Amino acid sequence: MTTRFSRRLSLRLVAGVAVTLSSLLMSGCADANTHVRVPETRKPLAPPVNADNQRFADWLTEFRLEAMKAGIRPQTFDRALAGVGPDEDVVAADQNQPEFVKPVWEYLKGALSDKRVQRGQAALAENKALLDRLEKAYGVDRHVIVSIWGLESNFGDFMGTQSVVRSLATLGFEGRRPDYGRTQLVAALKIIQAGDVQPEEMLGSWAGAMGQTQFIPTTYLAHAMDFDGDGRRDIWHSTADTLASTAHYLEVSGWETGGHWGYEVTMPAGFDYALADMSLTKSVGEWSKLGLKRADGRPFAATDAQAGSSLFLPAGYKGPAFLVLKDFKTILAYNNSTSYALAVSLLADRFRGGGEIRGAWPLDERPLSRSEREELQTLLTAKGYDHGKADGIIGYNTRKAIRSYQASIGLPPDGYPTSSLLDRMRAK
Ligand code: CA
Repeated sequence: MTTRFSRRLSLRLVAGVAVTLSSLLMSGCADANTHVRVPETRKPLAPPVNADNQRFADWLTEFRLEAMKAGIRPQTFDRALAGVGPDEDVVAADQNQPEFVKPVWEYLKGALSDKRVQRGQAALAENKALLDRLEKAYGVDRHVIVSIWGLESNFGDFMGTQSVVRSLATLGFEGRRPDYGRTQLVAALKIIQAGDVQPEEMLGSWAGAMGQTQFIPTTYLAHAMDFDGDGRRDIWHSTADTLASTAHYLEVSGWETGGHWGYEVTMPAGFDYALADMSLTKSVGEWSKLGLKRADGRPFAATDAQAGSSLFLPAGYKGPAFLVLKDFKTILAYNNSTSYALAVSLLADRFRGGGEIRGAWPLDERPLSRSEREELQTLLTAKGYDHGKADGIIGYNTRKAIRSYQASIGLPPDGYPTSSLLDRMRAK
């Protein structure tokens, strides 16, 4: 559980960095027009008791000037950061690059538990009137909104208990991506300054994902909504604001009203597995001509014939296959993990009584650990399949190199790294 949670958060953090850079540029433009009196001296916020605290106090002094330039008032800053020191748990979480990952089938088992399905169905009934209004306002399927709510915070049960201000100050001070921490902390202070939430109520994850929607502060600033009309965007306490914020974020990320995420499919014998890559898009009609069929035997919806879609094999050619449409890719804006997007999609279907997977998972395969992934990359390079740096991250170039190697030894080139493939590479 901890491993998956950390991985999810680091993925979110990676997605957050892109936001960070553009927000930095944008706030840079705004700065020129913002005239804020910057006080020259201030009281230390916490008495320095050792060298680390002194370093943090120095960092805070410098960051305070940056925040003032971005339009944060001194009283907002001093109230929010009063007594705040670095959080060792946040540093540890930030530096922990998990060695092991759960197989996708185990992750899905937890994500799609009967209990979560039942709670989601109850939430759909309880919030029917609200969801009617949300579908009208944002055009996003209610089942997906509630599914994301269930996976992000278990319907508001687990929002994280850490002070977002303290976590972000720690990441800005000594995180692996200090720019992320600084940008997000400025955004958090803007939220506090707008009166949406008190600093001590601003709780979330160690990485600064906040409230029931798990928005990072820049995402909150851009997309959070006040849907219950009390003048505050409250993703911590208000179900209406939480679900509207989620729906709004999906709408602006490109959700297609009336669309759907995709289908479980089967491939014909002799299918070219090199085509199974999220970066490759064909229309459902084209896939159909290549012999793809729905796993449940029904025909593809005629309205999807021209729809762009990609073939996604979450566990390689031995496992279930999915043809994913545009709305699936929109869910990735929320959390850039294909396993997460699949869980959101299937959970939404389970609320409606579907979402069962027909294909069998390759239970005898296990995902490679981080060091095994690095070893696989090193072996690929040694065999002349170039992919860049051996960093343990299986990206497009690594998948391409794996495909070339698989093809050279007569295996289906699905680009999927498995323990059996690694064993084979070690032996040769
Ligand atoms: Ca509100």
